[in-house]
Amino acid sequence: MRRSRLVPGLVSRIQRRTWRKGIHLKRPEELAIMRQAGRINALVLQTLRQAIRPGVSAAELDELAEKTIRKLGARPAFKGYPGPYPYPATITLSINDELVHGIPYPDKIIREGDLVSVDCGVIYKGYYADAAFTVAVGEVPPLAQELLRVTKEALDLAIRMAWPGRRTGDISAAIQQFVESHGFHVTRQYTGHGIGRWMHEDPAVPNFGEPGTGEVLRPGMVLALEPMVLVGTEETAVLDDEWTVVSADGSLTAHFEHTVAVTEFGPQVLTKV
Ligand code: MG
Ligand code: MG
Repeated sequence: MRRSRLVPGLVSRIQRRTWRKGIHLKRPEELAIMRQAGRINALVLQTLRQAIRPGVSAAELDELAEKTIRKLGARPAFKGYPGPYPYPATITLSINDELVHGIPYPDKIIREGDLVSVDCGVIYKGYYADAAFTVAVGEVPPLAQELLRVTKEALDLAIRMAWPGRRTGDISAAIQQFVESHGFHVTRQYTGHGIGRWMHEDPAVPNFGEPGTGEVLRPGMVLALEPMVLVGTEETAVLDDEWTVVSADGSLTAHFEHTVAVTEFGPQVLTKV
């Protein structure tokens, strides 16, 4: 598939239509529903992780995801999501140089040695959950293992910083510094975000930034934190299908995400079993 450069303004035009402005602090009863939504999303990702093996197609995993979500009483959040055209599937499945938003085509077959990223969102009783993981299929080179480790640890670090009184820029800077100290790069084009009754709400939580800037975190905020890391450069491109985002230089990428509540007792990961 031919690679096209990211069309300037495309992302922001889409985001203007779907991004909810303003910070909505969740009440305890809302957090209780979001915890259930997060648990469902985690169960789905766990099911997918167990099904990933050489020879399986992305479309088969997508079907499994939708079946599991509906069985658990929720709805897919990504299907029909506004973009260049409505998103056509339940999950995004991105392999190797595909960073995010990979469409799970029937002819996208998982092979030994791949890095496979799965991102999934659900809606449960009107509230969203959003989470992602990357996994190595069989044996992968040391560089790929290092990329996975660093991206996962960047997420763990980001979660540990989600305390009231910190700022979004503290999280952003921590992710950027940690990733870059290992020689990898963070995307500038795609960002973590608030989440609740909308999949994307304020505040944005970029994977780069300055400490002491951005929104002050308060109890009741819920954030989707999601380091997106590239081996070669920070540059991305979008494939002709207008959804699949790849590294511009074809280098490996990884993505981990959790939906995390900021509480007076500290960060609580909602997207866990
Ligand atoms: Mg996601
Ligand atoms: Mg997200």
